[in-house]
Amino acid sequence: MSAETFHCPRGPGPGSPHKPPFDGVATWRDDGTCSYCGSMSPERFFECVEAGNELVPTDKNYKVYVRHPNPIAGKITIRQSANYQPGPDWIEATPEVCKQYDWTPGEGGPYWVLPSPEGPIETGKFYFQHLDEAGQVRFIELLNAKRVKLAYPGHFYVAPFFIKFSAPADAG
Ligand SMILES: [Zn+2]
Repeated sequence: MSAETFHCPRGPGPGSPHKPPFDGVATWRDDGTCSYCGSMSPERFFECVEAGNELVPTDKNYKVYVRHPNPIAGKITIRQSANYQPGPDWIEATPEVCKQYDWTPGEGGPYWVLPSPEGPIETGKFYFQHLDEAGQVRFIELLNAKRVKLAYPGHFYVAPFFIKFSAPADAG
């Protein structure tokens, strides 16, 4: 994790009376996401778009999902847990198991977990609030150049909040 902090644009502004971690002060986590809102960083977002990875439209004008190759595809990790044993493949999250899979149980427990291989595609999210003005312009330019690959239905349900689509001017 980078020690450098910034104000997540989705959080309350500087000087808010909220206590950490609800004051919007954030760091970029090791996986490149914002510690306040979980958005991937603008750098990573543009990297994904320019590499031709798909964006998945949402019904929010400030959010897209980003499908990208999973850097740890095939690695066995724990992504599911329960406080009962849902099936025979589930194992109890003993301290050894937690250590082996680098998994931290929440409060309570005991827990059962399902170690399984990471898939080839990972889906992250990006909040457009994380784009500054230059970033907004850069994204619009990529859109206009048709370099943004949109997953089904192939268009935004609602335009990102900083974009206004307009009809062509009537030349007549
Ligand atoms: Zn954020």
